Amino acid sequence: MNTDLEVSIEQEVAEVKMGRPHVVVLGAGASRATCPNGDKNSKKLPLMDDFVEAIGLKPLLNNWGINSEQNFEEIFSDLYEKKENEKIARIVNAVEEYFGQLELPDRPTIYDHLVLSLRGKDLIATFNWDPLLVNAYLRNGKAGLKLPHLAFLHGNVRVGYCEKDKITGLAGMRCRKCGKIYKRIPLLYPIKKKDYTKNSFIANEWRNLKLGFEDAFMITIFGYSGPKTDTEAIDAMKKAWGDKNKRAMEQTTFITTQSDDEVSKNWEPFIHTHHYEVASDFYNSWISNHPRRTGEAYLNQYLEAKFIADNPVPQDFDFQALWKWYGQFNNAENNTKIR
Ligand SMILES: [Zn+2]
Repeated sequence: MNTDLEVSIEQEVAEVKMGRPHVVVLGAGASRATCPNGDKNSKKLPLMDDFVEAIGLKPLLNNWGINSEQNFEEIFSDLYEKKENEKIARIVNAVEEYFGQLELPDRPTIYDHLVLSLRGKDLIATFNWDPLLVNAYLRNGKAGLKLPHLAFLHGNVRVGYCEKDKITGLAGMRCRKCGKIYKRIPLLYPIKKKDYTKNSFIANEWRNLKLGFEDAFMITIFGYSGPKTDTEAIDAMKKAWGDKNKRAMEQTTFITTQSDDEVSKNWEPFIHTHHYEVASDFYNSWISNHPRRTGEAYLNQYLEAKFIADNPVPQDFDFQALWKWYGQFNNAENNTKIR
């Protein structure tokens, strides 16, 4: 075999050479895939289609004479336009209570594998309100690896913010600078005219997404079918994504159960249709096959045209075994200036 044309697992792990970020965008489908049978206590991770049912809003809506078969987005937008503030407050309470109670199962999940498989230069931006990604991030802090940055595009039930010091922390904990309690950032609800600039925390998260997109070598969209009816979100996403005609280089991957045609239709305003790949689940994705070296694998395959070996994340390990496995990356990462 001509080894010049091949990159082994050991070679991929040993050589850290990509400084640009891998940007991952998560939608509700990613949390559902992380907990396909519900959270630790079998509570469902809702999608937009079964949101009303999962949260248990049906009795409330039926009581008010509202058709609970409608999509949550329509119901909420409608109440908002009619200025039904009392009803809105009750819905918001129910939603926040539900999401606040969600917990990760005890064994490693997709979110654990995801945060462990990206590096400090990378960014995970999520639309999800549930605390599962934050919880995965926190419990893998013990692994001894630099984990990716996180951005919360629609707020999050576990994340707080000190407005004065511009510091993000866990809601309910104290600001490390001024000692005041971090105020929970507001969740952005599906109304037609969302204002992404009104809250300085949310505005900053979108700015980070935009910077990430500008610099990314690879973008992975996981469980998010793209903004459709929500014109503000489309606008914000377009601003962050930039001109699709100027984005010829980077690779876009969708992790989705949708067909190629659906993906291409949903994302037509954003991507050149020939510049993407679709993975049917996380464990078939580039991230899972080249953990912590997604950029190196990209350079080796696409720029240097080499054959690369996969180094798949072990799906069934418990945390001790998993963290030990991820220890293979430490040496090379500690001996380079690249993050
Ligand atoms: Zn403070």
